[in-house]
Amino acid sequence: MPNPSPAARTAYDAIVIGGGLVGAAIGYGLQRQGLATLLLDEGDIAHRASRGNFGLIWVQSKGLGNPHYQRWTRGSAEEWPALADDLHTRTGIDPRRHQPGGVTFCLGEEEFAARGEYMARMQAEAGNFGFEYRMIRAAEARDMLPGIGPEVTGVSWTPYDGHASPLHLLRALHTGFTGLGGTYLPNAGVTESTAAPGDFSVSAAGQRFTAPRVVLAAGLGNAALAPRFGLEAPVVPERGQILVTERTQNLLPMPTVSLRQTAEGSLMIGDSKEDAGLDTVTQSPEIMKTMARRAVRCFPWIAELNIVRAWSALRVMAPDGLPIYDQSERFPGAFTANCHSGVTLAGTHANRLAPMIAAGALVPEMSLFSARRFDVRTAA
Ligand SMILES: Cc1cc2nc3c(=O)[nH]c(=O)nc-3n(C[C@H](O)[C@H](O)[C@H](O)COP(=O)(O)OP(=O)(O)OC[C@H]3O[C@@H](n4cnc5c(N)ncnc54)[C@H](O)[C@@H]3O)c2cc1C
Repeated sequence: MPNPSPAARTAYDAIVIGGGLVGAAIGYGLQRQGLATLLLDEGDIAHRASRGNFGLIWVQSKGLGNPHYQRWTRGSAEEWPALADDLHTRTGIDPRRHQPGGVTFCLGEEEFAARGEYMARMQAEAGNFGFEYRMIRAAEARDMLPGIGPEVTGVSWTPYDGHASPLHLLRALHTGFTGLGGTYLPNAGVTESTAAPGDFSVSAAGQRFTAPRVVLAAGLGNAALAPRFGLEAPVVPERGQILVTERTQNLLPMPTVSLRQTAEGSLMIGDSKEDAGLDTVTQSPEIMKTMARRAVRCFPWIAELNIVRAWSALRVMAPDGLPIYDQSERFPGAFTANCHSGVTLAGTHANRLAPMIAAGALVPEMSLFSARRFDVRTAA
């Protein structure tokens, strides 16, 4: 790919490395805070979870055993309507947010009982913050979701869940960012960098840029970048596959954790998890079969639809599956952001995290997300 046109300026208030959903949401938030922000993004060969994901805004399974993560995710679901409206108004691009609540299907009594226990624990851990949910038996669930198969024993439901178009969201964030005066440089992988407290420089696309703040939001690329800024980002890839059916009439009024209908009418079937290194080329027919079979057990009519597309992409996973947000103690002004729910968390990234970064420090509660939690010396 040719290098982009050179950026007109080289000194910024903030540099964000990585233009996926995480970097773009933070960059948008920083620019909206009035910081002149540079968003640097690697070329098309990079691993880009943001262009291959499922599109859920998903709350009901997030944060068991980690109430701070449950609150952060809920916070994001609450921020989503404002973010979507703001982006739509500024850019004319609708991220197609639809948050009617969502369900997780249970096939068999054992699954229904286990799910009920899971949801009860989520509610207990939420404490005063509250966690609204219902375990709904199949007969009632059939009124909410017509066409459910006979093997479905019930569903768990929360009002917080929903979905959006990840590609429209990404496009809207980029367009909103540049519309507010932000500078986006594609094909600009960061090669060299220097770090001093409140004074950073990075080289990309043949230019050198400086800023008092730098945000590492390069997805899997953060693992290599973070140590240069006195930070750690022990993230690894986890492959997920997605199947897409032909378009059909509006049949699914709300998303489920592994099945959703896009605004255009396609059904997406997802939620697989496998360790396949960095391989996104080879598909696993066995996994696709399992995904398709479960979808048909939930909704037998899906068997009539043709699969028209399938792909795999790499999630960005920390060892415990939670996000990593950090600030460098050695080089104040340097931050990291990694998560495996970049759609869900776009609301908090743009509306809550970016203002903290603009103010120069994360609030104390955010220390629970620090990568220092993986440091055995700190833990000891
Ligand atoms: C199959 C699948 C399904 C998913 N489903 C959902 C879902 O339903 N809901 C949800 O919330 N999340 C979902 N996710 C997760 C979501 O896609 C990710 O959390 C999110 O995309 C991560 O965004 P990111 O910006 O951190 O990473 P990426 O999208 O990987 O972007 C990182 C960017 O950094 C750039 N980069 C890397 N190194 C450098 C460098 N040195 N210099 C400059 N730029 C660099 C790359 O070019 C890239 O554009 C799913 C993921 C997968 C794989």
